Amino acid sequence: MMTKPKVIWLQGASCNGNSHAFFNYPYLKTLLQAFDFLYHPLLPSPLPLASIVNDYSITCDILIFEGSVDAKFNRAGLSSDTLLQRFDGRAKTIIAAGTCASFGGIFSENDQNTSGILYRHEQPLNKPLISQSDVINLPGCPVHPHNLATILLALKANQPIPLDTMHRPKEIYAHTVHQGCSRSEYFEWKVDAKSFGHKEGCLFYEQGCRAPMTHGNCNLVLWNEVNSKPRAGIPCFGCTDPKFPNFSFFHTPKNMSIPAEIPLDVSKRAYLTISGIAKTFSIPRLKKRLLDD
Ligand code: SF4
Repeated sequence: MMTKPKVIWLQGASCNGNSHAFFNYPYLKTLLQAFDFLYHPLLPSPLPLASIVNDYSITCDILIFEGSVDAKFNRAGLSSDTLLQRFDGRAKTIIAAGTCASFGGIFSENDQNTSGILYRHEQPLNKPLISQSDVINLPGCPVHPHNLATILLALKANQPIPLDTMHRPKEIYAHTVHQGCSRSEYFEWKVDAKSFGHKEGCLFYEQGCRAPMTHGNCNLVLWNEVNSKPRAGIPCFGCTDPKFPNFSFFHTPKNMSIPAEIPLDVSKRAYLTISGIAKTFSIPRLKKRLLDD
């Protein structure tokens, strides 16, 4: 029988959101049976955290770190940077679970000394916190549990996990969140959503949808296997983006009626040309309510 990889899950400054999302993974029981979880702050663990941290003979295959690294924030009497550093070289692979662990996230918004494991927003840390480079960033606020499970199982199977320049698995983050949205036809023909929560219209032009500028697979791998924010009529907040949460939410900033940010790698000229042409056509089907008149 294949040995079970040993996993330790630690937290820095965190709201527990990644843990809660993970616990709602529909196949959690089966997944947990495939690994030997030595420690998780919210699960019964064979040893207390202090024993695990201070006993250097305890190593693991995968360290999952949730939350931002913040020297003011203590676990088991250790600041979260020291806690992380105690595992430098003791884990074969470190997974940064969520945007806080990957890039600093919400906790680093107004605090220059708070960061992710390798980055503070888009910038690599001037002074690296750890020496090992086997870090996989899984941003998301929270990280989608399916994505975390996919990476855990790939590590268990010794499968290669190609990463991009920001240590994110390409399989998950090469797309933009825009891909797979049920509203793409409205985006193409520039038919705007009139309000939140409806099935019709695109949320890009008025409601602040950041999906065309954000790397992720939320419209391809659905939440709870049924939905995503844009599908439900709520704009993507760009929660996987290294800059998150430094955006304006629920409205689209514009200059002279042109969105201040346009889809990734699309030139302003191309965007304006395509939008201008699309807007000259009126498609009655796309102006109607889908279910009600
Ligand atoms: S609502 Fe957002 S994700 Fe959906 S088509 Fe419009 S821009 Fe793309």
